[in-house]
Amino acid sequence: MRIGFIGLGNMGSGMAANLVSAGHEVLAYNRSPDKVSALAERGAIPAATVAAACDADVVVTMLADDHAVEAVTFGDAGILASLQPNAVHVSASTISVALAERLTTEHAQAGQRFVSAPVFGRPDAAAAAKLFVVAAGDPGTVADLQQVFDAIGQRTFEVGQDPTVANLVKLSGNFLIASVIESLGEAMALVGKAGVDKQAYLELLTSTLFAAPAYRTYGGLLARGEFEPAGFAAHLGLKDVRLVLAAGEALEVPLPVASLLRDRFLTLLAGGGRDLDWSALGALPAWEAGGPKPGH
Ligand code: NAP
Repeated sequence: MRIGFIGLGNMGSGMAANLVSAGHEVLAYNRSPDKVSALAERGAIPAATVAAACDADVVVTMLADDHAVEAVTFGDAGILASLQPNAVHVSASTISVALAERLTTEHAQAGQRFVSAPVFGRPDAAAAAKLFVVAAGDPGTVADLQQVFDAIGQRTFEVGQDPTVANLVKLSGNFLIASVIESLGEAMALVGKAGVDKQAYLELLTSTLFAAPAYRTYGGLLARGEFEPAGFAAHLGLKDVRLVLAAGEALEVPLPVASLLRDRFLTLLAGGGRDLDWSALGALPAWEAGGPKPGH
């Protein structure tokens, strides 16, 4: 398949490389062009503009946030203006439900197709083609895209025909991860201050009632105090909590824990933690209990 790939950050670079490895013809674009050359060395075709990357059957976007997706999609030489009729825009970024709705409408009006396919998994999973893809859109189109999802992930979950559902499901998952980071951080601050070894404590948790990847991954980062380089930056974590709250507001679903998490992320960012991994959120409780500041 001929695939345009827009956004070669922590996640996109690995995903695009795996599409190349799977034998697809990949037209790679990134706002900062240096990241394109690294991928070109692995066999991708450099695209100098968004419009050039749209000379394809499918264009995948893997960008930071709503603002970035709007910047490359709308406007004179954006995806909407450049993609051929019937070609597909696959949005893999974690974006708002509202933007996914706008993309669904505007692509349909332009005679193009739109599928939401956000992913679970950090950059190491992206590089290893082990992501979990949450896909929603027209069933025939999603079926056509299975070869794309197979190249980047270990399993695809089809969650509905309305693309926005995939974004809502993805956001709900990130809300749960952030809740785990906060509560695990509080539990670790408690036992840690009493002198319990954090690694041994984590081993106990993950060998008994908490044998889940979220506890293993984030517990490990917390126990080691390993917040740099960020696999998923704290400012993007705040973005996701904001989007969860917006979705809750639109559906009139109160999310009191999400409201708390928003303020916890603000505390982390105000303390200089913007570019730390979002797991540094879980280091706030130990800091508040008299320990070191996250990242120090
Ligand atoms: P990242 O490393 O910060 O990369 C962000 C990408 O967006 C870069 O390619 C960046 O281009 C581009 N970008 C930002 N603002 C832009 C703009 N205004 N116009 C054009 N391009 C712009 O982020 P990431 O960790 O790869 O995450 C990408 C998306 O995946 C996010 O929505 C995130 O929430 C989601 N996600 C992340 C993870 C994770 O663990 N990291 C896991 C699942 C989902 P430049 O290189 O020029 O800055």
